[in-house]
Amino acid sequence: MPLIPLLPIFHRFNRQYFDGLLVRDSKPIVSIRWSDGRLRNTAGFYRHGKKSNGTKVCEIVLSSPILENLPSSALESTLCHEMIHAWIDLVLKVSEGHGPNFNARMKLINSSQNQFQVHIRHQFPVPLKKPKWLAICPSCGLSSPYKRLVKRIACKKCCDELYGGRWHSSCVLNFEPFSIEK
Ligand SMILES: [Zn+2]
Ligand SMILES: [Zn+2]
Repeated sequence: MPLIPLLPIFHRFNRQYFDGLLVRDSKPIVSIRWSDGRLRNTAGFYRHGKKSNGTKVCEIVLSSPILENLPSSALESTLCHEMIHAWIDLVLKVSEGHGPNFNARMKLINSSQNQFQVHIRHQFPVPLKKPKWLAICPSCGLSSPYKRLVKRIACKKCCDELYGGRWHSSCVLNFEPFSIEK
């Protein structure tokens, strides 16, 4: 599914909720883009500063893996949330995170329409990153993460080393539910 272009929504929100202040000389003062497939821990973020290589960055990034399959209200809510951060930083020039300015603007936007609601925390399901299974070789003890249980799969290393590359029941992996202590 192609990703929805973000700029038209940005311009509309900028006019409706930010008095046009996030655009100067008809150019957004913050850049907006979709993430690649790896941004899975948050629906979106705003950042302004320097990257590790020294280049300046001021952008809103929205997570394509989290938002692409959700209704458009999820995208609108996330984009609007990050635009409030950009507005506080670039227009009000205050450093506050989710402080009084954020809350006031969020309430104003939420009460002015019923298409979407902005929240302090993005409330969308984050796809599971951790594997469900750990497969352990009874022969060499090596364990590897697996997303799904695979029946009668054998340890490649042991089959190669002990059985000339042929499948052997003595190195069929044992699957255990994956758990991380946290
Ligand atoms: Zn935020
Ligand atoms: Zn093995």
